[in-house]
Amino acid sequence: MNLILLGAPGAGKGTQSAKISEKYNIPAVSTGDMLRAAIKAGTELGASAKSYMDAGKLVPDEVVVGIIKDHLSTEACQNGFILDGFPRTIPQAEALSAMGVKIDVVLSIEVPDEKIIARMSGRRVCSCGASYHVDYIPPKVEGVCDKCGANLYIRDDDCAETVANRLKTYHAQTEPLKDFYSKQGNLITVEGQEEVADTTALVLAALAKVEA
Ligand code: AMP
Repeated sequence: MNLILLGAPGAGKGTQSAKISEKYNIPAVSTGDMLRAAIKAGTELGASAKSYMDAGKLVPDEVVVGIIKDHLSTEACQNGFILDGFPRTIPQAEALSAMGVKIDVVLSIEVPDEKIIARMSGRRVCSCGASYHVDYIPPKVEGVCDKCGANLYIRDDDCAETVANRLKTYHAQTEPLKDFYSKQGNLITVEGQEEVADTTALVLAALAKVEA
């Protein structure tokens, strides 16, 4: 199954893509994670992406299209994948289809802006990729990753001003993708719930329906 997860920043795409990845045994591919890894590794790509990310803006299409193209051609993605955070613009979606990649399902997780803002202020992440929330998904030990024991931190772009910009960017540039994929007939929508497990149940039920 080739799947795209859509949704505002903080809607829970990363959390749900990990659940789907586990259930269907297909890799989750996050352009945000790849860009953060490039920043951490100090590459030229990372340096050019950082200023956009810190401002809550999108990294230019040609940059992300290049990384995703390389990644989707790897062996790991040949039996399916979950795209988390790509495409984020209509030109990115067009580039994906020009690569000849067939998308089976586009799942949009809907969460109102007010809730997103509340959620982002409590998000804590780990460099191993794990993500927590101080109220909704607390780690067993405060500030420490359950999976690898490293210290958790707040993402640079989770500060209030950047979150507001990221939401604006989402509505202006990414939300039109719902219409784009709805016209192709493969959009399904799930309302993000208060509890992660409740959203996961809705997501997995929606995907099971598509599979049937
Ligand atoms: P995310 O972890 O998906 O929330 O992404 C964090 C940031 O990385 C975004 O706010 C963008 O600046 C950048 N980014 C991630 N994916 C894309 C994409 N497909 N197109 C452009 N910028 C992206």
